[in-house]
Amino acid sequence: MYPAQPVTRTRAFVVVYSTAMGPNLAAVFLDRDGVLNEERPGYVLRPGQVRLLPGAAQGVRLLNAAGLLVVVVTNQSPIARGLLTEAGLQTIHCRLRELLAAEDATLDAIYYCPDIAGPLRKPEPGMLLQAADDLGLDLARCYLVGDQETDILAARRAGCRAAVALETAGHNCWNWMAGPDSSSDLRFPDWIAQNLLEAARQIVAHLNS
Ligand SMILES: [Mg+2]
Repeated sequence: MYPAQPVTRTRAFVVVYSTAMGPNLAAVFLDRDGVLNEERPGYVLRPGQVRLLPGAAQGVRLLNAAGLLVVVVTNQSPIARGLLTEAGLQTIHCRLRELLAAEDATLDAIYYCPDIAGPLRKPEPGMLLQAADDLGLDLARCYLVGDQETDILAARRAGCRAAVALETAGHNCWNWMAGPDSSSDLRFPDWIAQNLLEAARQIVAHLNS
């Protein structure tokens, strides 16, 4: 059982599938719920609840083809809350990878933070920094796609090249951009996309510009 209090864990939990190692690799960090799979009220707690979003597999496949590592960074506080075990999370991620594989799309690594707070939980950049260290990424060449302002903040704090916000029903990015802040606000994405495929196209176009 994980403590239901903020912890000072300094290493994220990770499963790496790729054999690619740096130095100076470029990656795209993906939030999970609302980017790859449908967000679900009360969390995704079972493999049968994983439903890919439109454009998700095609987006990952495009990023794979562009030679970018695809690294999921996901907050998983249901573990600290006692709603989900790590083994249960692995079965969910197996299902996610299986659905993607059916469309020739591959994840290179999944980082998850089981804590309710702390340096690894987005909006903190801990998972991204660790991935850079583990995989040999050049963060200044990396991108992020997320659907919440915490995702965009984590990308900014990690020093990513660009961050894309998805317009989703659950977390419409215009809501957090509606304040009086200037465009220098760290929560502002570089681009907005309707789904991961559109975001991947923006990233690949930028990569080649
Ligand atoms: Mg999300």
